[in-house]
This record gives sequence, C-alpha cells and structure tokens, in this order.
Amino acid sequence: MPLDDTDRTHLARAVVLAREALLDGDEPYGSVLVDASGAVRFEDRNRTKDGDQTRHPEFEIARWAAANLTPDERAVATVYTSGEHCPMCSAAHAWVGLGRIAYATSSEQTSAWRASWGGSPGPVAALPIQVVAPGLLVDGPEPSLEAEVNELQRRAFER
Ligand SMILES: [Zn+2]
Repeated sequence: MPLDDTDRTHLARAVVLAREALLDGDEPYGSVLVDASGAVRFEDRNRTKDGDQTRHPEFEIARWAAANLTPDERAVATVYTSGEHCPMCSAAHAWVGLGRIAYATSSEQTSAWRASWGGSPGPVAALPIQVVAPGLLVDGPEPSLEAEVNELQRRAFER
C-alpha cells in the first residue's frame, strides 16, 4: 500500500531517533513499532558505538515484540524505520512474525550514497528486505525524508 500521512508521521519519528543516535556517537538509524490500533509500542535507535555491531533498532524491536506481543499482535504490527532493514534485521523481523515494514530510505540508496562518497561496502550484503524475507509487506522509500536521511548518513560517514 502507498505511504500515507500516518506512515509519514511515524517515519519522521524514526528519523528523529536516527538523528539522536548520530548525535550520541552511534550510527544514524531509528525505528518505531506501531500496533494495529495505531499506538506506538516501542522505539529504539542504533546503539553500536560500544562495539556490538548487532545493536540495530530493528533487531531490538523484533526481540521486544517476541517478549511482549502475542503472535497475532505481531502479525498486524508495523515497523517504521529510517533506513531499510539489513539482512540480520529482516530475518529477525520475519522469524518473530512481525507485519508490515515501512522505511524512509532503501538500502540501495544508502549503498549508492556511501559509494559516491568513496566508502567501501560493509561486511554484510545490502540485500533488499524481500530478498531475505519474501513474504513481508514492505513500503518505501519516502521521498520527503530522503534529503534528511542523506545528511545524517553523510555526517556519520565523515566523522
Ligand atoms: Zn539491521
């Protein structure tokens, strides 16, 4: 389904969390878990600066959901995220049976930006969510947030 104003509100919050992460020395990624009633149930942002490179917000959301939501609740929940899930987080999302994903910018965009700044690819292939978890409903990117996410990624890349 196309992204609507409610989606854009939650995506904008995910980008605020990404900025928070950047300003705290972490990588600029943030994510929000919203239940079927539209309530925000959990949110987090990247916390990798202390050396654990698996501390992605989408992974944290999957584990929180497994511990706190029933399978039925998970299936109708939506995860909003500033940058498309990496393969680890796509797998975790699918394994715990969460529902739709909406992202502000795609892994393809992020990879292209990094390459244009002279960066080398990371240790994990930037596969699209649906390559890792073909059954998931995925929407994005959201063009109105692209410039802001690009700026956050650029600042992280340059430090
Ligand atoms: Zn991830």
